[in-house]
Amino acid sequence: MDPSSRLKALRNEVKTCRKCSLWKTRKNAVFDEGPVDARIMLVGLGPGKQEDLQGRPFVGAAGKLLDELIKEAGLNRERLYITNVLKCFLPENRATEEQIKACAPYLDEQIDLVSPEVLVPLGNVAANYLLKKFGMEPAPMEEIHGKFFRASMLTQSMLIVPMYHPASALRNPPLRNVLFEDWREFGSRLRSLGIVP
Ligand code: SF4
Repeated sequence: MDPSSRLKALRNEVKTCRKCSLWKTRKNAVFDEGPVDARIMLVGLGPGKQEDLQGRPFVGAAGKLLDELIKEAGLNRERLYITNVLKCFLPENRATEEQIKACAPYLDEQIDLVSPEVLVPLGNVAANYLLKKFGMEPAPMEEIHGKFFRASMLTQSMLIVPMYHPASALRNPPLRNVLFEDWREFGSRLRSLGIVP
């Protein structure tokens, strides 16, 4: 099956998935947004209330800030592939180890199918999951935000660039400047590496 058809099949599968308890509180599973040939993939934690209602990732308040950050980096949201570690609404905005373990195979397959050159985990949960997946030591976001890590596994090789989750800056406004600085620098590194024009 080609990557696009397989993603479509997975998108349908999560709509009725009951592999963890989160199916009980979702209105709409949120699988992804963006082109299958994207060179950059963003990975958040999970859908919030607005995302659950609309069935799209990053459309609430944190999504609006993410849009500004993407612009700050000189990128185009429509060219990015956006998803989350968990595909169903997190009422407490907190994920358990069991929920992550149940849902992560979807993310693993998305990474295989999209095969991005750059993975951008947003927030600690996504960063820890992706760094561990590629055999690296997880570390607090204060130490790793905006840094470029080279990840390799079997035939896959990509850059991982952890960023603060935009919701962190909504909770803690002084972080806003850090996020804008990180994304500005991210965009310019991507241009110097020739990943984006
Ligand atoms: S969060 Fe993931 S594993 Fe849990 S029910 Fe939803 S799609 Fe299935």
